[in-house]
Amino acid sequence: MSEKIVKSRCQEICDLCGKWIEEGERCRMIRDDFLPFMVFFEHLRCPDAAPAAQPDLPSPKRPAAGLAD
Ligand SMILES: [Zn+2]
Repeated sequence: MSEKIVKSRCQEICDLCGKWIEEGERCRMIRDDFLPFMVFFEHLRCPDAAPAAQPDLPSPKRPAAGLAD
């Protein structure tokens, strides 16, 4: 993975919060070295970065404890 601070050239969706990163805004670009087409953009600081769960995003994978009957 390589990470770089860039100025976005067009609107991008933040991979962390799912909100728009405006054109010309500085953001973090993350690229997978092995999959160069996989590029992610993140706000340097998400506008409403909150420790609470973000309902728009799928919840992180957890071990399926308690699901087995
Ligand atoms: Zn964000």
